[in-house]
Amino acid sequence: MAAAAGDPAAEPLRVLQASAEIYPLVKTGGLADVAGALPGALRRAGADVRLLLPGYPAILDALEPDDAAPAELAAPWGETARLRRGRLAPLDLPAWVIEHAPSYARAGGPYADAAGIAYADNHRRFAWLGWAAARLACGLDPDWRPQVVHGHDWHAGLAPAYLAFARRRGETGALGVFTVHNLAYQGLFPAERFGELGLPAEAYGLHGLEFHGQLSFMKAGLSYADRLSTVSPTYAREITTPEQGCGLDGLLRERAARLAGILNGVDTAVWDPATDALIAERYTARKPSGKAACKLALQRELGLAERPEAPLFTVVSRLTEQKGLHLLAHGAAELLRRGGQLALLGSGEPALEAAFRALAAERPDAAAVRVGYDEALSHRLFAGGDVTLVPSRFEPCGLTQMYGLKYGSLPLVHRVGGLADTVVDCALEELAEERATGFVFDRFDDASFGRAVRRAFALWARPAEWRRVQRRAMAQDLGWDASAARYLQLYREAAAA
Ligand code: ADP
Repeated sequence: MAAAAGDPAAEPLRVLQASAEIYPLVKTGGLADVAGALPGALRRAGADVRLLLPGYPAILDALEPDDAAPAELAAPWGETARLRRGRLAPLDLPAWVIEHAPSYARAGGPYADAAGIAYADNHRRFAWLGWAAARLACGLDPDWRPQVVHGHDWHAGLAPAYLAFARRRGETGALGVFTVHNLAYQGLFPAERFGELGLPAEAYGLHGLEFHGQLSFMKAGLSYADRLSTVSPTYAREITTPEQGCGLDGLLRERAARLAGILNGVDTAVWDPATDALIAERYTARKPSGKAACKLALQRELGLAERPEAPLFTVVSRLTEQKGLHLLAHGAAELLRRGGQLALLGSGEPALEAAFRALAAERPDAAAVRVGYDEALSHRLFAGGDVTLVPSRFEPCGLTQMYGLKYGSLPLVHRVGGLADTVVDCALEELAEERATGFVFDRFDDASFGRAVRRAFALWARPAEWRRVQRRAMAQDLGWDASAARYLQLYREAAAA
């Protein structure tokens, strides 16, 4: 194992990626974008990557099964699933899908019913993912056995735990890597469920899954993986502090030597204004004229005044406490008063939805709100907008500011997590040194946010300078290749340890 992983001339490293979402089939946020792009980037970097996914109908429908008979998968809690093998058509990648209709064929979302209530059996629905990953590592499929099992977020948090105990029993040599996409979502379940999971008694303890009297799937991943990562260098530091550690900072400090911060990339097959079929006109940093057409088309579509001279601020976001959009709710009137426009796409907290709807009703010429989830409109917002607002309270990596950079819609962000790692403020010294790419505020309050908005207006008043910053933003290398190389390095470190 160590030789194969450490020696580039050896056979490609066999890596199983386990995730609960995958673009374009099942997506609630950035996790899906990463799960859809990272495997391809790892394959280009020379790894033999395969996927393991829950059998939601959209995923089963997209699987082109191969000739192998589905493997029977018996879970410790007594249910039986079938593990189907084939190619996942939209991504053209080999995959296993856990077919278990009682768990996954449901009318609601991936984690909760239509009313937003989390499914009561989520511990089993996602224990399947960890269990299947570990069974594959133990040789369930005689044709292919992973050397590394890479689990994403709490949904796959049991994979490293099952794997670690299987290794102790000598059933596998595979290593566990676990990536945190958002520490705030931990997969907490009542302690009484522990008996269903088939883990040894010692796993329910301070050094295992136990978290303040509950089970934590996130903690399982953090405790048992051989290597940990999260999605930006700054967030990797932040989660080792009490402020952002969500109660797991002590464990993360203990394991800090094994924790890497690897920035997400942008999947340019999906997000590139030069080729994007979903936008009104294609454009590039060198030939930006199509962006003006995109802006006009967007203003028309949303019923905004067709004013090229008005800076158009956009938001594509979940409307949750994390995203800091109450700062925008407080500052929006001032933004419009200064002559800006606002277009928002998102859904979430009813109070925020109502606040933005009220604004749009009051100023339909200058503010437009679309409540819901709309992938195509999100592309048109990045292409047509001038500023992408991401004032998050905390942000592990953040993808929308990167889409803003790529589409020349300058990000306005709070200096936190991945936002701090990807955007450089238009302070005079940064402008002078040709580094600025957006607007960054330090303190998470209305005044600081308001000053960043004023900086955006100040730059907008200097069109030549704006275009220079925009060109730089669009030229920033945000591709996946560098990050894929870092993940490969992480796998090798795990193998060498
Ligand atoms: P998070 O995962 O915390 O929601 P990210 O910025 O990492 O935040 O990723 C969010 C992803 O979801 C991006 O691809 C973004 O474009 C997309 N997204 C968020 N809200 C919507 C929406 N209402 N409609 C379409 N896409 C959305």
